[in-house]
Order: sequence, then structure tokens, then C-alpha cells
Amino acid sequence: MSDRKQPVLGVLGGGQLARMLAIAAAPLGIKTLAVDGASDACAGQVAPLVVAEWTDYAALEAFAGQVDAVTFDFENVPAETARRLVERVAVHPSPQALAIAQDRLAEKTLFRECGLPTPEFMAVDTREDLARALTTIGAPAILKTRRLGYDGKGQFRLKTVDDADAAWAALGEQAATLGLILEAFVPFERELSVIAVRGRDGDFRIWPLTQNWHVDGVLSMSLAPAPTISELQQRATALAKTLAERLDYVGVFALELFVKDGELLGNEMAPRVHNSGHWTIEGAHTSQFENHVRAVLGLPLGDTGARGVSTMFNWIGDLPDAAPVLRAIDGHWHDYGKQARPGRKVGHATLCAPDAKELATRLTELADALDRGEQAGPVVKALR
Ligand code: AMP
Repeated sequence: MSDRKQPVLGVLGGGQLARMLAIAAAPLGIKTLAVDGASDACAGQVAPLVVAEWTDYAALEAFAGQVDAVTFDFENVPAETARRLVERVAVHPSPQALAIAQDRLAEKTLFRECGLPTPEFMAVDTREDLARALTTIGAPAILKTRRLGYDGKGQFRLKTVDDADAAWAALGEQAATLGLILEAFVPFERELSVIAVRGRDGDFRIWPLTQNWHVDGVLSMSLAPAPTISELQQRATALAKTLAERLDYVGVFALELFVKDGELLGNEMAPRVHNSGHWTIEGAHTSQFENHVRAVLGLPLGDTGARGVSTMFNWIGDLPDAAPVLRAIDGHWHDYGKQARPGRKVGHATLCAPDAKELATRLTELADALDRGEQAGPVVKALR
């Protein structure tokens, strides 16, 4: 009898996304090996962890020799690290796709080329550029770093053009290293995200659109399928497919969209599984994590249809009492095993129901028991 060799998925980054990828990979008989600079990275509680910095090329080469394919829990892995790995092992998504998604300017330019309108934007490298961009775009506007910004970090909101000095004081220093972009502030009706997956063979699937609510730039609640979206769903599917094909993308990605006057505007793309897709673990036939593992390792993709209607609470900073979620019908608790810290994503909970009416009832009860009425309020309203 020959020795059975189980496939091993390598993940760059050992946070909660790597942790949930490892959990999804296990039933498929796939092992996971994650790399992170921190020895207490939370994926290490469910999978072996290599502790190494992104520039520790010797450790990364040894890691590449132990895995069948490499993917990301963290998109800001340096391009040089990804390039070196590509020489040794399959890396999905490709470093080229990653490079575009790492840069807000390149990403928005690509959106427009693919037929997805965006908020007005201009690159800003100097204080004079900022003045010029404000003359063209006007206020309110948002100045953002082109690279390394996430969850509202590296952003400054300008209410009027008189805020230009304050914006430059906050971010000007980063113009030379990360680049800046000024975007028109969009008074959107709602925020949606597309979670989509493309296999190595080009098979493309999209989950039902998710509606999202952010607080201080960080995701607070998600609802899927987003209410009344049939026409938007068709448009979003076509756009996401065009983008995925343009990038020859393999794996799951998220597109964050604003809806303004019933039209879709592209905000950003995440080249990985995404916080707004966590509901798919219990709320879809195949989760984003399982389909990402399947895509990266060249396995057939699973059905992305929803089971009923689901909502997700994001736990930021620290966890509430788990008991009300554990008691709720079709309530699901996710503790990432991280230390509490302000602004940190430490867990989430998903609540599912057969239809919107029942979900509204269950959510009202659960939010009450958790004392999270304010957080859940917009979702309850959207369900009614
Ligand atoms: P981002 O890091 O670009 O995804 O921004 C985080 C959140 O800030 C978004 O989900 C929106 O809620 C808000 N935001 C970002 N850019 C804009 C914009 N141009 N107009 C209005 N709101 C925005």
C-alpha cells in the first residue's frame, strides 16, 4: 500500500481568515500551514504555524517546500515575498492580481476599464495636487492612502475644502511612501458587497449580494441576501466576472460597492475571503472559505446559493456574552481566540432563518438579549 499524501494549503498570514480557511479545509482532508510574524497568531490554535517575517526568505522557501499551493489571509504581503514564492509553488490569487488590489488607484482604474463606475478620484502626491484635486472633485471628500489602508485606517474625511491643511497634516507624510488618493464622498443609499469565486478552470460563481453597515469605517453588520436586489445582482455578477477574467483570478474575492440613485459604484476589491462573507459558513450551501480552498487547490467549486436569510454581527474590541447566541435557534458563535483590544476583530455571530420576517423576529430577540439593539437596528429596519 502506498503512503497517502494529504494536500497541504499554505496561508500567508495567521489571523482569523487563515483560521477559518483551515477549519473549512479539514473536512476535505486538506491540511493547512500558516505563516505569521506573531507566534500567538490565532490560526495557530487550529493549524501548525510557521513564525517568520515576510523578508525571512529562508523560512519562506522552507514553507513553500511543504505546501501544494499558497494563498493569503492578508493582502499586504510584500510583492517581493509573493514573487519569490511563485518561483517555487502555485500562488493564488496571483501576485499581479494582488498588486492591483493593494493599490486604490490601480483598483479604481481597473473598475472603470471593466465598466464599473467609481466615485470621482484623483491621485495626490503633493500638497499642490491636493489643492488641485479639491478644485476638481470638491467637498465633502475623503483623502486615503493608496496602499496599506483598511477598515477606515489611513483615511481623512474633509467636510469642506478648508479641511485641506488638516488632511495634509494627517496624511501628507505618507504621500511619498504609500501614495494618496482623493475621492468624492458618496452619500450612498446603501453599501453592498459581492463575494465571488473563480476556479483554476475558470468556473465562476457568486453568492447572493450582501448588504453591509459600517461604524467608523469598520464592518458592524451584514445581511444576506440583501433585500430587493434582483437587477443589481445581475449587474454585479456580470461586473465581477469581467474583473475576475481580466485578472485571471483564482480564489474568492470581494467587491465593496456603494448604491447611489440605484446605480452601483465600486469602492474597493479585497483579494481574499472577506468579513462580509462570513455569513456563508452557515447561511450558504458552500462557504466562502471552503470554495476558496477548493479553488486554490483546483477542486470543483460548490453551490453558492443561500439557505434562507442570514445576518452577521461583527464583534470589535471584545466579545459579548456568548450565551444568548448559543441559545438562539440557528444562532452561530465564532470566537477567534484573540485577546481583546480596541478596534480589533475578535469574533462574529451569525443568525439564520428561513425568511426575512422570521429573521427580523429572531434578530430583535437576540439583539435584546445581547443588549445590542443599536448595532442590529439598521438590519431589523431593512428586513421589515
Ligand atoms: P474603505 O476602507 O475604503 O473600504 O472605507 C471604509 C468605509 O468608509 C466604507 O465601507 C464606507 O462606509 C466609508 N467610505 C469609504 N469611502 C467612501 C466614499 N468615497 N464615500 C462615502 N463613504 C466612504
